[in-house]
Amino acid sequence: MVASEIRALFAVAARPEVVSLAGGMPYISALPLDAVGEMAGQLIADRGAVALQYGSGQGDPGLREGICEVMSLEGIRAHPDEVVVTVGSQQALDLITRIFVDPGDVVLAEGPSYVGALGTFASYEADVVHVPMDDDGLIPDALAAVLARLGRRPKFLYTCPSFHNPAGVSLSGPRRAEILGICQRAGLPVVEDNPYGLLGFDGEPGRALRADDPQVIYLGTFSKTIAPGLRVGWAVAPAGVRDKLVLAAESAVLCHSSFAQLLVREYLASQPWREQVKVFRELYRERRDAMLDSLQASLPAGCRWTTPGGGFYVWLGLPPGLDAKAMLPRAIAARVAYVPGTGFYADGAGLDHLRLSYCYPEPDRIREGVRRLAGVIDAELELRATFGPTR
Ligand code: PMP
Repeated sequence: MVASEIRALFAVAARPEVVSLAGGMPYISALPLDAVGEMAGQLIADRGAVALQYGSGQGDPGLREGICEVMSLEGIRAHPDEVVVTVGSQQALDLITRIFVDPGDVVLAEGPSYVGALGTFASYEADVVHVPMDDDGLIPDALAAVLARLGRRPKFLYTCPSFHNPAGVSLSGPRRAEILGICQRAGLPVVEDNPYGLLGFDGEPGRALRADDPQVIYLGTFSKTIAPGLRVGWAVAPAGVRDKLVLAAESAVLCHSSFAQLLVREYLASQPWREQVKVFRELYRERRDAMLDSLQASLPAGCRWTTPGGGFYVWLGLPPGLDAKAMLPRAIAARVAYVPGTGFYADGAGLDHLRLSYCYPEPDRIREGVRRLAGVIDAELELRATFGPTR
């Protein structure tokens, strides 16, 4: 296990003078914190003996009912018995990998992929093989080609089809059926990681992969729609995997926080959570627009970036010859932070890309951050013109 690029960055990026476009922290101040605080107090006063007691490995049944209602917004029809509560979706990733992967086993993952998933796969000594994406998400032909050339059967495909971290793109409708078809024919389990599915900026949420294939192992979380500090996520999986998940969860944590689970259950039952998700969507849309407008206005020719329809991230490609990792200390000196693309690949790729997040800073700070970043890229281009490519 080694420290991720993001971890090393958090300390520097947290300085107030730095505009951090690095971390993916949700904007918790937009939650009705007073109401949540009142609920928390009431919960302890009324049901403290249960809320502060041990619970079950699968999670609170009432919360699992609420989770099924949340998932129905993306077309998923699941029974509460099919749901296993986890400590954020990060723990679900860990448990799934623990169940499926022995050292040296192959896991397929989009290139790029979420850094936290790659960290988990590495800790179980998986051999990650990336499958390329484009603006419509994972490329079906590329997946078929990787499967044909591998010669070994991968343990699963890890994919984040909606508002991808870090690429900011979504798997198009036609490709969803294609990818599911390829995986079904190859007997390849699909792990769908979907923290951002409800945070689309245009219209109603789309359909999750799990909505069209009950064999898909689905990971969800309240980290982006309520708050990550609660650490409540979940997995939905076919019966055999689900039973193992409960055993693995029990061995990892005995049970999840009863208090956090009951708080989320109460929040779903008594607060206007659908409206609150809309509040988040509007807020993040405004920030996405601030970022895209200022990228357009200030970045030099040769840069290219994705246009996210939801979620938290823009994936930015640098002009040829520039190195996002080498440039980072100069960006920090110019008081702007990002995550170099290499963190999102298991194989050293991604030097010419970086991830920008727009979820946390106010729009004015985003504009200022992008202005600073543009200055840094301009200076790198001048260096390259004088001394040749930095890589
Ligand atoms: N998957 C993806 C794609 C993420 O972006 C994140 C958080 N950044 C997670 C999983 C983990 O989230 P949590 O454990 O808070 O649910």
